[in-house]
Amino acid sequence: MQNDKKNRSPLKNPLLIFLVISVVATVILNMVMLSMQTTKTQEISYSDFLQMLNEDKIDKVILEGDRLTIYEKIDESSIEVDSETSSLMSALGIDADEVVEKAKNNSRNVYYTGYIYDDRLLEMLDEKGVDYSTPIQNDNPILDFVLTWILPLVVIYLLFFLLTRSMSKRMGGSGGGIMGIGQSNAKLYSVENATGVTFADVAGQEEAKESLDEIVDYLHNPSKYHAIGAKQPKGALLVGPPGTGKTLLAKAVAGEAKVPFFSLSGSEFVEMFVGVGASRVRDLFKQASAKAPCIIFIDEIDAIGKSRDNQISSNDEREQTLNQLLSEMDGFDSSKGLVILAATNRPEVLDKALLRPGRFDRRIIVEKPDLKGREDILKVHIKNVKTEPDINLHEMALATSGTAGADLANMVNEAALRAVRCGRKTVTQEDLMEAIEVIIAGKEKKDRILSEKEKRIVSFHEVGHALATAVQKHTQPVHKITIVPRTMGSLGYTMQMPEEEEHYLMSKDEILDQITVFLAGRAAEELVFNIKTTGAANDIERATSLARNMITQYGMSDKFGMAGLESIQNKYLDGRSVSNCSEETKTDVDKEIVDLLKKCYDKAMNILKENRDALDEISEFLINKETITGDQFMEIFDRVKESREEKSDNAESDEE
Ligand code: ADP
Ligand code: MG
Ligand code: ZN
Repeated sequence: MQNDKKNRSPLKNPLLIFLVISVVATVILNMVMLSMQTTKTQEISYSDFLQMLNEDKIDKVILEGDRLTIYEKIDESSIEVDSETSSLMSALGIDADEVVEKAKNNSRNVYYTGYIYDDRLLEMLDEKGVDYSTPIQNDNPILDFVLTWILPLVVIYLLFFLLTRSMSKRMGGSGGGIMGIGQSNAKLYSVENATGVTFADVAGQEEAKESLDEIVDYLHNPSKYHAIGAKQPKGALLVGPPGTGKTLLAKAVAGEAKVPFFSLSGSEFVEMFVGVGASRVRDLFKQASAKAPCIIFIDEIDAIGKSRDNQISSNDEREQTLNQLLSEMDGFDSSKGLVILAATNRPEVLDKALLRPGRFDRRIIVEKPDLKGREDILKVHIKNVKTEPDINLHEMALATSGTAGADLANMVNEAALRAVRCGRKTVTQEDLMEAIEVIIAGKEKKDRILSEKEKRIVSFHEVGHALATAVQKHTQPVHKITIVPRTMGSLGYTMQMPEEEEHYLMSKDEILDQITVFLAGRAAEELVFNIKTTGAANDIERATSLARNMITQYGMSDKFGMAGLESIQNKYLDGRSVSNCSEETKTDVDKEIVDLLKKCYDKAMNILKENRDALDEISEFLINKETITGDQFMEIFDRVKESREEKSDNAESDEE
């Protein structure tokens, strides 16, 4: 929290307020306790007491400091238990004496009076045979004071403190308490313990780094740019899917330039009270300009930067925040060396005003890494763990196509965890490859035991996929098949390994082959067991979406030609598409999809029928071993194929 003078007046200091509240609460507490102690008794005068003493009405007296507590004698006979009741009570297991004692205590009156110094008192008490005593004095007044005053004070104070802290946390504050609401949450990293991240920590984003290099250079030496009259762009927007290293890149820019890094997340702006976000923006820019040159980083800017029109429900708070941001960006003087970076994975929802020149006029795309990029990212992260000398990161990069940097970092860590679990000191290649599966398919679910029947079905299903892969031309080779259930729901799966060169284009034939591979699992179930299971749901979903994209986006259907019937909305997130065509066309598209899937399914069925011998043999192997590698698979596949060809050759020569 940055201490502003205006917030330091004593009334605004939250700690002082808590203190006052705690003191008041403690006083009230003590008063209540005291009154509770005295309500049962009745005050009388000293002379009344003496009279009672003379009249023999007193049973017991307790002398406590300057106070006398007087217990009245009671008429014993009135609560005597007659013999009949007594025997009844003992039959019920009740101690009659105890009951009488309790009844006496409850029915007698207790009085108190102030003690007047009086020599005769003890004599008189002795004379009348009154029981008297004094409680052992609590001779530790300090302890007494602590227990009644300090302890409750501390407890109440702590309670308040915790309460307000959790409250302010919920409001997005970081320790400012109730009073810190309007202040900025920007975390300021000083130059010394700067972000600690450099471009060397970000791999596989060479183009992005190049674009950011200029900003770094500018922050190092603004005058070079001024001399020639060049204006540095005020802001750059990092755009890309989650986990590709946008936040990391922003930190690296600050680290490289050795300037302070103000970072905050867009979602932190959305507060409980209207106007808070706007005041935060103002505050942030004020603090940052004081520290210039520096970098302001706004993560997840889409949370505030959403387009202001086209909203079903408008959000006042967000609009105010956005307006403030826009005016601050216009207002600040970029010659001081203030650079604003922002990150988002939904650039299409951003308000156009944010993107116009003079604001976030640079857009830096941070894509998912390619093969080489993945290998480089793995190299960065593998440095932090101890490994065997013979690990092959290239193989790992091959098997992880489509993953982002965050996934890769996670995989390396998962591999290290696995090594620890196995009691090893170093990470092996096997750990790394298993970690890929854990991230992609979930952990092995050892406790889920498949029945023998289900195991057979799953095996044939998976081998169905693999055979369709092996037989068709435009597919990637099988890497591994397993039928160990995984936590993410799959009962088994077939892992394919891409070939050396990475593909950026997919041809129509490749897509058709891929759909056939997806559908071959169900085809195997039908062919061998004549059943349909739910295990094919995911395959069907993926096959259908590929088929739909072929028709509506890739212009690969004969009927619709190259009409674009759908467009993608969230390119960097789920890639959801919206339809652009009429209802009738949609119906036709659906028909086309059904036809296309049917064709592919028939093809898959034919492949399996032709290779039924291989399907049976490989499936049996898989049922026994639970896992089969790509090499083992191909070995059996080739052997079965050869013997089949021999047989047909023999049959032909027999005929001749
Ligand atoms: P984003 O902000 O794009 O969602 P982050 O920058 O938060 O992603 O990345 C999360 C983590 O993933 C980083 O802390 C880093 O460990 C790892 N990571 C992501 N991309 C890369 C990369 N290109 N190079 C090295 N590590 C990366
Ligand atoms: Mg991020
Ligand atoms: Zn399947």
